[in-house]
Amino acid sequence: MQNSFYREIINDHNLRPAHKREVPGANVEKRGVNPSCGDDITLQLRLEDGKIVDGGFVGDGCAISQASADIMLDLIIGKTQEEAERLSEIFRRMITGKVTDEEIEQMEEAGALIDVSHMPARVKCAVLGWHTLDAIAQGE
Ligand code: ZN
Repeated sequence: MQNSFYREIINDHNLRPAHKREVPGANVEKRGVNPSCGDDITLQLRLEDGKIVDGGFVGDGCAISQASADIMLDLIIGKTQEEAERLSEIFRRMITGKVTDEEIEQMEEAGALIDVSHMPARVKCAVLGWHTLDAIAQGE
């Protein structure tokens, strides 16, 4: 039952992404590519004083990569870059199965991607958005 609930969240974000759009006034942009699946996104953020005031992504990819990027943006918009990095770290541990229930709760809908931890081939799809976010944080 939980699995179908999770699948619904992923389908919904894939079919009706809220953040798949160009961001007006974006001041950082980073492309993220996962060649093993063909996922290719560009993440755009508008940062003000270390806070993510707006964000979006463009590009294409499989349902998991698209849904994960959209869910990530739901979580990080309005947060500081520091807070977003903390969530990114939790997300990576969630995907490798090393996470507490409290942490999963903090991930809100991103928790729906926990099943990916049982699908090694899809891990790169799920982390693509977060990986791109980290690359921005590290100024790569
Ligand atoms: Zn993919």
